Amino acid sequence: MEKVVLHYSSREGELYADGLNSTLDQRNCESIEQKELENIIGPVAKPIMYSAAKILTSTSMASYFRRLLDNKTGPEDMLKDIMSFLQRRGIGIFECVNHDLKNGTFTIRVRYSFNAMAYSESKKPICYTLSGILAGILEPIVRLSLDCEETSCSAMGHEYCEFKLKPSKRNTFPKKYFDVKPPEEIKGLSPLEVDYDNERGLFVFEGSNSFLNFRAHDSLYQREFEKTIGPAARGIIYSVAGKYSATSSMGKARRLIIQLIGSISMESLANEFAKRIPMRGYGVLENLKIDGKNKEITFDIRNSYNTIAYGKTKEPICYCLSGVIAGATSLLFNKDSECIELKCRAMGDKVCTFKSFARKEEEDLNKVLIELDRIPGIQRSMVVSNEGMIRASTLSDEAEPNKIASRVGILIGSAQKVSEEFKLGKFKCVNMFSSGGFIMSVRINSRFSLSVLVHQGANKGMVDFALDKARKRIAMVL
Ligand SMILES: [Zn+2]
Ligand SMILES: [Zn+2]
Repeated sequence: MEKVVLHYSSREGELYADGLNSTLDQRNCESIEQKELENIIGPVAKPIMYSAAKILTSTSMASYFRRLLDNKTGPEDMLKDIMSFLQRRGIGIFECVNHDLKNGTFTIRVRYSFNAMAYSESKKPICYTLSGILAGILEPIVRLSLDCEETSCSAMGHEYCEFKLKPSKRNTFPKKYFDVKPPEEIKGLSPLEVDYDNERGLFVFEGSNSFLNFRAHDSLYQREFEKTIGPAARGIIYSVAGKYSATSSMGKARRLIIQLIGSISMESLANEFAKRIPMRGYGVLENLKIDGKNKEITFDIRNSYNTIAYGKTKEPICYCLSGVIAGATSLLFNKDSECIELKCRAMGDKVCTFKSFARKEEEDLNKVLIELDRIPGIQRSMVVSNEGMIRASTLSDEAEPNKIASRVGILIGSAQKVSEEFKLGKFKCVNMFSSGGFIMSVRINSRFSLSVLVHQGANKGMVDFALDKARKRIAMVL
């Protein structure tokens, strides 16, 4: 273990390594998130993760490459520099075993890949993000677009992951770089000493294995993801990347929180937490208000990392951050919590404002759904938002309602897109038939829809009638 010094600004909530604007993220979260994502959306996860990582890497590295070129670094030295750079990101131990700069081919071996280390056994290679990073980062050396394929993976039990790169059929190089603020312009950077495990190529920060991500990663990833599956991407990012990974990776933190709650007030605990956010490069937490009685927290994040490369929007977009906050609040109050974003920098606001609260039982909604389930043939029902987030449901917890809601959200989002493409207007109803029965989703209003699972042989006319009645009643409650 050695000590590495990174630099951060407590005023801006930004973290710099090798002059690149970064965030210090937990390694386990990456694998947890990927597995859940594959579970929900299936094999589409691979191209989404790969292309987001590739686009992001090639576009975020402008200042780094400019420095290499200013120093007149030749391609061979540039390759060496890039291998050691990747290692300094805490994403594994890198070795280029074979390369041909003239033809644009490379073979790279990686031990302790940040994608694979916590991703238990797999039958196929799973380092999609790392494949995208390698393709994006090696392109400027050969000045060609590259494709990267992982041929063996440590998640499959191999000693290392191996990646083969070759020129793409469609050459899109050079790419347009977006400029990030150079660190020289950030005043008052403070050193942040972090433990670095040089045998495994990872950081150990606050007791957990960590790596350096690009600060723009989450927002670009979200944009790519939304392009493919529509607004349901937001719900998945909220519940998987944010809430689920926050609660399942906080094992140590949770123990610490419980110990601390015994000894200090919740305010000082939350203030301590607030101080640590800029160190990870997530922004600056301000105006924190805790209402312990109602289990509610509100605060602002200035310079949210979720907004950095997203572009202008009409709605709040910091879904990953909202999910992380919901997860942390659930642990803090020991009660399942949700978080909504009220203002967002991507909408032109000065700060992003979040409100986190213990999840309330939606009694009125539940009543309508329970009555609906009494109609012969209707098995289960749920109210889902466009983002694929659950508002109320009669599904049991074992059925994992959040995952089902994500899938329903994708289905409705796709139906909406198709209906727009055929100029049919807004969708009213989506039916999906199978041998055992059917799923029916009807629109409640512009934000929510109602879905029911119906068994084979049910009287469709009766179901239609009941659904229409329930839809109207729910619209009044929402
Ligand atoms: Zn791998
Ligand atoms: Zn925001």
